[in-house]
Amino acid sequence: MARLFFNGDLELLRGKVVAVIGYGNQGRAQALNMRDSGVSVIIGNIRDAYWEAARRDGFEVYDIDEAVERADIVLLLIPDEVMPNVYSEKVLPRLRDGMVLAFASGYNVAFGFITPRQGVDYILVAPRMIGQGVRNSYLEGRGFPVLIGVAQDSSGRALDYALAIAKAIGAFGAGGCAVESSFEEEAHTDLFGEQVIGGGMLFLIRTAYEVMVEYGISPEVALLELYASGELIEVFKAVFSMGLWGQLKLHSTTSQYGQQTRGPRIAGPELKTVLRGIMEDIVSGRFAREWALEQMAGKPHFKAIWRRNLRHPMILEEQKLYRALGRIKD
Ligand code: NDP
Repeated sequence: MARLFFNGDLELLRGKVVAVIGYGNQGRAQALNMRDSGVSVIIGNIRDAYWEAARRDGFEVYDIDEAVERADIVLLLIPDEVMPNVYSEKVLPRLRDGMVLAFASGYNVAFGFITPRQGVDYILVAPRMIGQGVRNSYLEGRGFPVLIGVAQDSSGRALDYALAIAKAIGAFGAGGCAVESSFEEEAHTDLFGEQVIGGGMLFLIRTAYEVMVEYGISPEVALLELYASGELIEVFKAVFSMGLWGQLKLHSTTSQYGQQTRGPRIAGPELKTVLRGIMEDIVSGRFAREWALEQMAGKPHFKAIWRRNLRHPMILEEQKLYRALGRIKD
């Protein structure tokens, strides 16, 4: 079983300067939480709207290379796609022996786009929570799960630093914990989860919509049944508090019978073969290489699939319904 941790030692961060690079979703939330935890935090960012936002929140803001130079500990909280360039141009040249470099995602180190420099700790503190949730949980005294890992332990205390940062960003409030993991495990799990659960859900719902309409169900009724009513939000809240099968008891017995007899037809043995293929693409690095090449080429395929998917009749009907319900404006 993976080791779980419920505390970290903030003393480890005392007298140290922590630079948060990037003031976006995670950057802002983690910087504010660490400052409220008594940590000395500065921000590194490009001079634009995020820079101004950090200034308005009362932080000292520097160009990225200068922030790294002023820091003992650096949290690299910029999008994974831009990270390798920013790292090699602005972070790596300013790293010094004894520094700690923390990531919120294992992606770039796991797939070899960033290679650890000697003399520096490379650690992972990856919240399983969106940035807004990281901040709101902290303000409400609630914790959240984080995955922690060590890619390079130069100080001999890399895991302690990860736990200290987890504590400072508020992971150990009520109900929160740190789970020992690794850059690879985090990256593989994250990709697999988003591709299979996220991607699978998008296309399962769309296929279900096509069949419902084929059988004469109106688009509005189909959309409300499948996701537009918001019922799924309640179901997933119940999954969170009661467990995946525990929440089934909230549904009618007809529904319980239907779900448990028809569900396995969708997720039959062939599905496992498909999922193994998706996992193979991830762990072999094929997916990461494919995506890196796509980005280098200017994302032509990515743009084309976006365009194609937005032209699907379900999306056109969804827009009409959401407009009628006042959820979106023209
Ligand atoms: P955001 O997209 O919110 O990051 C935006 C920040 O990155 C801004 O400060 C932006 O500054 C900066 N940035 C963007 N492009 C560049 C660039 N080319 N050069 C320098 N800075 C740049 O990122 P997230 O907070 O979503 O993600 C940060 C990290 O956290 C990632 O590793 C991600 O995987 C991880 N993570 C994210 C979660 C989430 O919920 N979003 C959850 C858990 C982990 P500007 O626009 O001024 O350039």
